[in-house]
Amino acid sequence: MKTLNDFNFKNKKALIRVDFNVPLNEKFEVTDSTRILSAKPTIIKILEDGGSCILMSHLGRPKSVQEEFSLHHIVNTVEDILGVEVKFVSDCVGEKAIQASCDLQAGEILLLENLRFHQEEKEGNKDFAEQLSKLGDIYVNDAFGTAHRAHASTTIIAQFFPEHKCFGYLMAKEIESIQKVMKTGEKPVLAILGGAKVSSKITIIKNILDKVDHLIIGGGMTFTFVKAQGGKIGDSICEDDKMELALDILKQAKAKNVQIHLPVDVVAANTFSNDAQTQIVDVDKIPDGWQGLDCGPKSIENFHDVVMQSKTILWNGPLGVFEMPNFAKGTIALGSSIAEATKKGAFSLVGGGDSVAAVKQFGFQDKVSYVSTGGGAMLESLEGKTLPGIAAILN
Ligand code: AMP
Repeated sequence: MKTLNDFNFKNKKALIRVDFNVPLNEKFEVTDSTRILSAKPTIIKILEDGGSCILMSHLGRPKSVQEEFSLHHIVNTVEDILGVEVKFVSDCVGEKAIQASCDLQAGEILLLENLRFHQEEKEGNKDFAEQLSKLGDIYVNDAFGTAHRAHASTTIIAQFFPEHKCFGYLMAKEIESIQKVMKTGEKPVLAILGGAKVSSKITIIKNILDKVDHLIIGGGMTFTFVKAQGGKIGDSICEDDKMELALDILKQAKAKNVQIHLPVDVVAANTFSNDAQTQIVDVDKIPDGWQGLDCGPKSIENFHDVVMQSKTILWNGPLGVFEMPNFAKGTIALGSSIAEATKKGAFSLVGGGDSVAAVKQFGFQDKVSYVSTGGGAMLESLEGKTLPGIAAILN
């Protein structure tokens, strides 16, 4: 795997695909700069080598050129984070971009305008990719968040740098973390899958059964498994058409010697609201009119024991409706168990959408080994897919 360390960037122009698709408020201020911070080590290494950086990214989902999606809004934030002046060019290809790249001196940074102002980016257009490729000497992909897309700047462009392409530090870290869980992690390996629906996690569950020793299933998915085994789930969320599949997963897990852990008790609510009346009941004895919105105290204890035994831990998906404070206890308790196991030497990876939000909201991001920056890219990796952005560098 070629990374930045395989190159010396002295007097070279690095063309870096970053993921600066950051949230902006109504005043066009960056409200979460995690993604810019994540790209900093790569950019600094290149500058310190004596090279220059040409940064390319998308922002949002513009249909064509739309001022509200212009990357010029983030120039000041990027400058503040990097501590270096950032030049900006109002198109990512064409004469202006070529001139700006030619003018760039060692130690300088140039940010190109939003790649998605050109439809060719998402279409993976080869001519467009070739035009972009003319701007730099070495192509660096550090955009894990878009690695699952075969777009011009994430994948197609790599063919124009047969010998001069590599992963940035962020990408390398993401790939390494996934490998630790899926291939090289110390046993026992535990995956915790929560979230709303079995249907959105089914490919991950199937793929992961070959890699783990323990699997905790929580969140809304629980009830499809419980009902399929004859339990009473009241009005809890359930996918009846996935009950066969749930039974099949339990059978497969047994055959593969994977221990599945489901909640044994839940916090049941009489409405889907933070102010609902609640009671703790067994997971398979939920009265009609009540729905399980969080796991209960016995489940929290059981999950704690499993987490503490594990040496490699993957967490995707909350254990309850954590957006409502009264149903966040299970998710918070799990976060703190994982933090404790990590402190004792376990490797822990948190990835994919809502669990990342939960980890940040409850302050665990610095207490786990790694928090992935890519939602969809992470989920596809866990499904066992080779991401086009990664394959393009490896090939
Ligand atoms: P996902 O995007 O599949 O990871 O699902 C995350 C969502 O699952 C969050 O918005 C949670 O509120 C929701 N969720 C977790 N547990 C439950 C539950 N017991 N009932 C309904 N929704 C749930």
